[in-house]
Amino acid sequence: MNKPIKDSLGRPLRDLRISVIDRCNFRCQYCMPAEIFDDSFQFLPKSELLSYEEIVRVSQIFADLGVKKLRLTGGEPLLRKDLPILIAALVNIEGIEDIGLTTNGVYLKKHAEKLMMAGLQRVNVSLDSLDDELFKQMNGRGIGIEPVICGIRAAKEAGLGVKVNMVVKKGTNESQILPMTRFCKEEGITLRFIEFMDVGHTNGWQLKNVITKMELLEMLQTEFDLEPVEEEYYGEVAKRFRHKGTNTEVGFITSVSESFCSSCTRARLSANGSLYTCLFNGKGHDLKSVLRSDMTDEDLTELILSLWNDRDDRYSDERAAGTLKGQEKIEMSFIGG
Ligand code: SAM
Ligand code: SF4
Ligand code: SF4
Repeated sequence: MNKPIKDSLGRPLRDLRISVIDRCNFRCQYCMPAEIFDDSFQFLPKSELLSYEEIVRVSQIFADLGVKKLRLTGGEPLLRKDLPILIAALVNIEGIEDIGLTTNGVYLKKHAEKLMMAGLQRVNVSLDSLDDELFKQMNGRGIGIEPVICGIRAAKEAGLGVKVNMVVKKGTNESQILPMTRFCKEEGITLRFIEFMDVGHTNGWQLKNVITKMELLEMLQTEFDLEPVEEEYYGEVAKRFRHKGTNTEVGFITSVSESFCSSCTRARLSANGSLYTCLFNGKGHDLKSVLRSDMTDEDLTELILSLWNDRDDRYSDERAAGTLKGQEKIEMSFIGG
């Protein structure tokens, strides 16, 4: 079966981001502030997480509906046991062309080789600072940069495509913009700056803490010679630039300053199996109960088809237009970035 589908704004379904776990070994202030995600915080019990069999079944259905790319995320996906087993099964799904993983990189050195052997193609490693003290502070767990840098290098050595993601928050880590750019250029790694986003309700987001793509570019151009790179495919998220005379790129995820809802082709599956059609949705659609009922694959396909057909999300566009209505939102660590 192959039914490419469109939502109510004409956007196809192309990507599925799967959160495999809601737990994390970090407490980044902008994502899982330690004062909220503390020892008493109730994470999902194992029985509530989708099993690998359930993830594979639902991914197969998404692939039939047009999804070509899968990205595993969390929480910290490398905390989920035996992740290569899941990857090896996802690779076999007809129609899936690309499987990526987003990680904080701490356990990447240990797993890079096995992930690659299982069929993973690329990893995005989050790193917000090269300054050890600042990094320890930002991740809320006092972990230095060393394991992350080792993870990045191990992933490269294993043959994985590697990008580095840096969330930039004004008043916190703007001092790291140029050092991170130098480091990634020397390593030949694409660096992607992510504008600080108003995901969830716990990270104290304020517009004044956002450093926009334009501000970042101005800063970078004081030291680097960058040229814009053409969009590669419909729905590409990053605005891309290249260090002139090299193949090394710098990208910007401009969720705040230049929203890209009109070509957003991404669905998200939370760790407990709810489907979200926008990063900023408050309520997902419970697919886990459906997967655990006697509904057939055909029933499930029809359900997902109708959910995508009804989709009209354009949160970032509405934020830019000033027409948001203070809706409920889900936390990033739960839905997956
Ligand atoms: N733990 C993994 C990691 O950090 O890479 C995967 C999950 S994390 C939620 C996915 C991505 O979301 C990371 O690159 C992280 O930096 C980004 N992120 C989290 N909170 C954010 C926020 N408030 N604004 C922008 N990006 C955010
Ligand atoms: Fe954990 Fe990633 Fe969120 Fe940081 S951004 S707290 S590493 S899930
Ligand atoms: Fe997609 Fe929602 Fe982000 Fe817009 S705000 S780009 S619809 S996830």
